[in-house]
Amino acid sequence: MDFKLLKRGARGPQTELLQLALRREGALKEAPDGVFGARTEAALKDYQRRWGLAADGIAGPASWAALRPWLTGYRRVTLRPGDTLYRLAERYGVSLSAVETANPGVDPRNLQPGGTVTVPLPFEVVPDSVRFTSAALALCAEGLKARYPFLTEESAGSSVLERPLRLFRFGEGPRSVFFNGAHHANEWITSPLLLRFLERLSAAFAENGAIAGAKAQELWSRSALRLLPMVDPDGVDLVTGELGPGDPAYARALELNGAAPGFPENWKANIRGVDLNLQYPAGWEEARRIKFAQGYTRPGPRDYVGLAPLTEPESRAVYELSLANAFALTLSYHTQGKVIYWKYNGYEPAGSEAIGRKMAALSGYSLELTPPESAWAGYKDWFIQQFDRPGYTVEAGQGTAPLPLSQLEEIYRANEPLLVYAMTAE
Ligand SMILES: [Zn+2]
Repeated sequence: MDFKLLKRGARGPQTELLQLALRREGALKEAPDGVFGARTEAALKDYQRRWGLAADGIAGPASWAALRPWLTGYRRVTLRPGDTLYRLAERYGVSLSAVETANPGVDPRNLQPGGTVTVPLPFEVVPDSVRFTSAALALCAEGLKARYPFLTEESAGSSVLERPLRLFRFGEGPRSVFFNGAHHANEWITSPLLLRFLERLSAAFAENGAIAGAKAQELWSRSALRLLPMVDPDGVDLVTGELGPGDPAYARALELNGAAPGFPENWKANIRGVDLNLQYPAGWEEARRIKFAQGYTRPGPRDYVGLAPLTEPESRAVYELSLANAFALTLSYHTQGKVIYWKYNGYEPAGSEAIGRKMAALSGYSLELTPPESAWAGYKDWFIQQFDRPGYTVEAGQGTAPLPLSQLEEIYRANEPLLVYAMTAE
């Protein structure tokens, strides 16, 4: 990942990442605000001085490399004579079991000076205070795998701009389930939501503990969870400001946007202006008829169905992943209304309504039928049609997208029991 050279006056999500690292390290007191001002500069200089870097207040390659552990949440440490895992845990302020979890291949009675071990740092990897770009996702992916080596990551494919579609796996059970987020760019809060769930689930598993009342070890042995937190990484990078006016992709999107207000935060589509959740072959013609009648007849920020189903690599990747895995249940996360949608076009998969009711009770959301104007060509629609199994759209949170990060904690609390339940529901 390419970090830009940042100095005073810089703005945007990379400045937020810089501020996040400085705050976690202790150099910066304030929460990230994305504006590289006097306080950020002073904090960076302080950090550079203490860590033996040239104290120029500019975040260049050396500073970014030194700050990286505060973004990924772990550090590779070279063992010194006399080091034990216990001493390392004490030195870095984490539990011994966290260090042991991160080093499954290391024999604690036989540590060799000069060897290296992974040491988690004392904070959660997934941040709740920065705009969650594809770069933030990459950092979290690296950190979560380092801290929880039992987690695996595959690529489900790549986006138009060749960003990887990161797919995580937790569990070795027979029941295969699939949770996805950010089919819609400006609903990117669903990415840290799902990733935070993965982190807390993994932490509970490592500690032989429970999450939302369920034993994590049992979830591991009953379920195989596949989690794709960001279906539309290019669109997310546009909405969050990671792609700026200097980027050709930004310029093209701006042109497609035309006169639509609120660019780029209004952007739901992928970077080519196709709505990824109107791309699936389940009533696509019907979706096309409805959306064209509403005036969405060409690529733009939202509601354009594309020239045909599955023309976009992101939707196609999710489609192919689903065909290859034949999931028992799927959840697709969106952010518009504290509602769970279940049925598709007369299909009522066995058990689906009962599971939906239980999920509604656990989250406090209502279980409803998809409104007729958006009842076609979505992922859940196709999944239900293809497999006749329970598939849901969860509209977490309420308000104009993108929802503010201040809602993340509340949304997470509402959804954790639902997510745990969905891993084994039948
Ligand atoms: Zn949505």
